Amino acid sequence: MALIVQKFGGSSVANAERMFNVARIISETYKKGNDVVVVLSAQGDTTDDLIAKAKEINPNASKREMDMLLSTGEQISVSLCAMALESMGFQAVSLTGWQAGMLTDSNYSAARIKRVRAERIQKELDKKKIVLVTGFQGINKYDDVTTLGRGGSDTSAVALAAALHADLCQIYTDVDGVYTADPRKVTGAKKLEEITFDEMLELASLGAQVLHNRSVEMAKRYNVNLEVLSSLSGKPGTKVKEVVKTMEKTHVSGVAKDTNVARVALIGLEDRPGIAFKIFSLLAKEKINVDIILQSIGRDASKDISFTVSQDDMERAQQVMAANQELIGFKSLEATNKVAKISIVGAGMVNNSGVASKMFEALFSAGININMISTSEIKVSVLVAERDAERAVQAIHDRFFNEFGSGN
Ligand code: ASP
Ligand code: MG
Repeated sequence: MALIVQKFGGSSVANAERMFNVARIISETYKKGNDVVVVLSAQGDTTDDLIAKAKEINPNASKREMDMLLSTGEQISVSLCAMALESMGFQAVSLTGWQAGMLTDSNYSAARIKRVRAERIQKELDKKKIVLVTGFQGINKYDDVTTLGRGGSDTSAVALAAALHADLCQIYTDVDGVYTADPRKVTGAKKLEEITFDEMLELASLGAQVLHNRSVEMAKRYNVNLEVLSSLSGKPGTKVKEVVKTMEKTHVSGVAKDTNVARVALIGLEDRPGIAFKIFSLLAKEKINVDIILQSIGRDASKDISFTVSQDDMERAQQVMAANQELIGFKSLEATNKVAKISIVGAGMVNNSGVASKMFEALFSAGININMISTSEIKVSVLVAERDAERAVQAIHDRFFNEFGSGN
């Protein structure tokens, strides 16, 4: 017997038929003798619909009232699911974030879970009930309802799994796992049997939207065994954990594309100490996050520095640099958001220059120019023109995963 937390996303509970499908998965887990705690998202597009309703009334509604409204979507899901289970002869109880003891800070619309007071859930489990908890929401010290930010139900599930010391946290969604690349865009994308927390974090932040980023961070911190799987296919999914079997080998887990990137280049800087310090301290003061940095070798006492930021920050970065042109001392500035970052991620690629060269070769063969390169222990990223991005992903993916069987 084990304690299993199962989370079902909005598409998995979108209508009555899907709700019964979910109830069947839950009941089967329960019938095997497990304690089951279920976290549900709002049905289908409910959260978006609620946001639209609010806009009709007041486009500038306070975040507190938005949270009060949006939290209702999940309440509908858990009560309906409890009813479905009841009709099938199971004892179930639905709880709101408040009843389930999900204590958060007071940052409405983006609250963080501080603690889970799990006594009530435990009491219901002791009575052999299936416990259904609303995802995405909690309560703050003023007894107000808070929400965790869009997609936050994954984080609710992991927090519960950590607090209850669950043996497994299953995230059911409408894709059947984590793939080597976006399966809707890249031919030959394969489902991964398992992946490490670190790889998943990289892939999530690089735009593979399977799991809420914060849920993976939390799962890593509390070492929660995660599994991503489909509520419809019934097939095994992808396990996300600290160490995976293939880690000894050099391996690449996936190729990701991030188009939310912009590049700013400062041209004709003086080649002397302190220039980089000036540039990046000005950006830091403005809380602009910088990702890749490239500095050219000085020639004729002049050098160039370019860096990437998210697209939303491009204009501000440009303004800050322009406002300080004299202080920094550059001749001209160029900025573009027509770039994309393509990355390969793999926990086994530490110190392996062969992996990087294979990636560059794939790009060369496809005639794609690399603007910038950055590497870390588990990732190699390149910046390319946005128009080349999809082709770049496919070429790199083919090279690592398709050409020679498994490719790795
Ligand atoms: N219903 C919320 C949303 O759509 C939370 C979630 O689904 O995880 O963002
Ligand atoms: Mg989601």
